[in-house]
Amino acid sequence: MTDRGSISRRAAAVQPSATLAITNRANELRGQGRPVIGFGAGEPDFATPPEIVDAAIKAADDPRAHRYSPAAGLPELREAIAAKTLRDSNLAVDTSQIIVTNGGKHAVYQTCQTLIDPGDEVLLPSPYWVTYPEAIALAGGVTVPVPTDESTNFTVTVDQLEAACTERTKMLIFVSPSNPTGSVYTEEQVAAVGQWAAERGIWVMTDEIYEHLVYGGTRFSSMPVVVPEMADRCVVVNGVAKTYAMTGWRVGWMIAPEEAAKGASRIQSHLSSNVNNVAQMAALAAVSGPLDSVEMMREAFDRRRRTMVDMLRAIDGVTCQEPGGAFYAFPNFEALLSRPIAGRTPASTMDLASLFLDEANVAMVPGEAFGAPGYARFSFALSDDDLAEGLSRIQSLVADG
Ligand code: PMP
Repeated sequence: MTDRGSISRRAAAVQPSATLAITNRANELRGQGRPVIGFGAGEPDFATPPEIVDAAIKAADDPRAHRYSPAAGLPELREAIAAKTLRDSNLAVDTSQIIVTNGGKHAVYQTCQTLIDPGDEVLLPSPYWVTYPEAIALAGGVTVPVPTDESTNFTVTVDQLEAACTERTKMLIFVSPSNPTGSVYTEEQVAAVGQWAAERGIWVMTDEIYEHLVYGGTRFSSMPVVVPEMADRCVVVNGVAKTYAMTGWRVGWMIAPEEAAKGASRIQSHLSSNVNNVAQMAALAAVSGPLDSVEMMREAFDRRRRTMVDMLRAIDGVTCQEPGGAFYAFPNFEALLSRPIAGRTPASTMDLASLFLDEANVAMVPGEAFGAPGYARFSFALSDDDLAEGLSRIQSLVADG
């Protein structure tokens, strides 16, 4: 019998976003007057470039923006996304393959809704971004984590994928540059994974949201460009949030083969209809404009990345691989567990995160959130001064024992 008093099992099973929870907790403590430095948030600290904001102001004044528009996106934005995809990744796509979504997150959710049936398995290399397993579960799919570690810079190998693949495997989720590890796959690695998926006939959702944020000679490669034969089973997820400091505007997109694009578009027409037209016009200015401000922000992230890695490595017992992309460092804190710090003995990185927040007013996201206990994620998308201050607080706390 239906339990009339309860919410659905589906809603009850969704885990709250650990990264948002940390950010909220940090804000709460700040509200109480504590000088909290937050390494939790995955968003640039810069303002959106002014020419993009100006385009939105103009759009808000235009009555055409005040009405419903096509659910799959404004035609001029879809065309600009096709042009940008050719410019930046050398991937030629038809405008009809592009669906403009409420951020990359919506594109991830909608891709799962479009491709996954109940019981289908989805290969998810771990550590993974917190949203993926929830989007898979909401479509009735089963997440099959494929653990990776420092020995391969947190990149998954074809042997690992092969071992995890069953006859129920429908899709692989691939993200490079990666949230949370900052790892970037080389072109050869992307080719190997893409060819394997093509041979097995498995769909790949490739999340390219950090495509422009790569450092120190590292290069981004787009899987359907490196492996053209997978194009009919590949969905590209992307958006303006990270590249143009536009997290709050909520514009992303998915690029899918025709049938999948049509399916996604039908879903979106009932779920949310068109994305806010003013935000779409801002996104149009972003993707069709120059990449100068992007380069300025990338250089700042690169500088902060180097400071962060040096300062994390200077903490006794901590190791940290160098992130080649995105804006996250993913240090290994195992050596800090089971030893006293400020009179407490953290048994897990979850404990360590509470300890850092309580004793040093520093917020980090524990690895448990990403399926990787023992590690933590530190965003370097914050000011140089805050970054140095936050990390030196941790250094002193650990050094004092
Ligand atoms: N993909 C990855 C890997 C991300 O880290 C994020 C943001 N945290 C997104 C997609 C979604 O970004 P948005 O919804 O803000 O466009």
